Amino acid sequence: MERIGRNEPVLTLERLPLISELAMIDAAIVAYGQVSDDLHRTNSILQGLAEKDPLTGLANRRTFESYLAAVLTRPAISSPGVAIMMIDIDHFKSVNDTFGHLAGDRSLVAVANVLTSVPWQANHLAARYGGEEFVVVLEECSLEQAIERAEWLRRSVQELNIETGTGPFLRLTASVGVAVASSVSDQPPDIIARADRALYTAKKNGRNNVQVASLDIGISKAG
Ligand code: GH3
Ligand code: MG
Ligand code: MG
Repeated sequence: MERIGRNEPVLTLERLPLISELAMIDAAIVAYGQVSDDLHRTNSILQGLAEKDPLTGLANRRTFESYLAAVLTRPAISSPGVAIMMIDIDHFKSVNDTFGHLAGDRSLVAVANVLTSVPWQANHLAARYGGEEFVVVLEECSLEQAIERAEWLRRSVQELNIETGTGPFLRLTASVGVAVASSVSDQPPDIIARADRALYTAKKNGRNNVQVASLDIGISKAG
């Protein structure tokens, strides 16, 4: 600065230390950027592992539970409401026993694909609840719509042709329990328990059918 003030040349070797310091700072910034990118990538991998079921790529049970809790606390849930479906593959143990665990896994992936390729993409979260049991959350969905959609899913599972690698395709059926949030004070465990009871009724009813939680049928008639 003094040299500039005196109108003397400044591009001399004496400036080199400053230039090399700037170069070091620049390199440090670039290196920091790379570390930050790596951390970002690692973070999103970890987040995926924490939120998703590794076999099917669907949301896992924890993600479903926090999603449902968030959806139920939104102020405008009352009409047309929030519905959930519990979907359980029928006689899945015998699928494993007959065709092997690998074919069983392939079946789970095929059912998961049905749950994510629905014709009503908006306001739809599909999750693997555990084992051969899946759950779907439907926002802004009336009971009638939920029943229609559950029927669509049931039929779609029935139409699957799953490769076994040996012999004919493997076919599946599933039972579905449907429940809708009955009031703004409805908590996730309440609605899950109702859907679960409806699913149990579907199993008792011979499987491969859709049942609605009895409280929800009452509400539907009243509405
Ligand atoms: P139901 O019609 O009453 O539902 O009978 P089910 O045989 O489907 O039910 P059960 O609970 O007796 O058996 C569930 C089977 O699901 C047993 C278990 O080995 C299998 N299963 C759970 N998780 C997996 C998985 O990740 N992969 C495979 N291949 N099988 C699984
Ligand atoms: Mg089952
Ligand atoms: Mg089960």
